[in-house]
Amino acid sequence: MKNEMVLQFSSVSSNESFARGTVGAFVTQLDPTMDELTEIKTVVSEAVTNSIIHGYNNEPDHFIKIICKLHDGEVELIVKDTGIGIQDIEEARQPLYTSKPEYERSGMGFTIIENFMDFVEVQSNPGEGTTVTMKKQLSKSKTVCN
Ligand code: ATP
Ligand code: MG
Repeated sequence: MKNEMVLQFSSVSSNESFARGTVGAFVTQLDPTMDELTEIKTVVSEAVTNSIIHGYNNEPDHFIKIICKLHDGEVELIVKDTGIGIQDIEEARQPLYTSKPEYERSGMGFTIIENFMDFVEVQSNPGEGTTVTMKKQLSKSKTVCN
């Protein structure tokens, strides 16, 4: 089975739960375990929050795009903003690194994403925005022969 959806929404914090719930509902058709579903929803929250808080500095009049692809039991998620971008991606991905300690961020978003997903790629250019591509193979699908 191959299926794909695209979601675009304003950079306001109330849309974090909208994105989380919508991706979760879409992924449900692959019959994920409860843990897998929670993990996928969590990485959506982390990536969307990053776009809102860091990419767009909490400005509400921008857009975040999510592309979700389902293929052979694998979930691919792409979360994209056109915000400020990341200067040093390697540094940003380090556990506990945050550029906003004054907002009491813990710097664990990327680490959580990496723990929950099988593949994580961060593409970013200062002034152009950030695209996070993530993939996760669901356990039930591993045993299915196609
Ligand atoms: P936490 O996620 O624990 O609340 P955090 O958001 O600072 O804290 P990460 O999610 O790991 O931690 O992100 C690390 C850093 O990467 C951020 O502090 C920020 O500097 C940068 N960053 C992450 N996503 C983006 C983005 N979409 N646009 C610009 N910078 C980003
Ligand atoms: Mg974060």
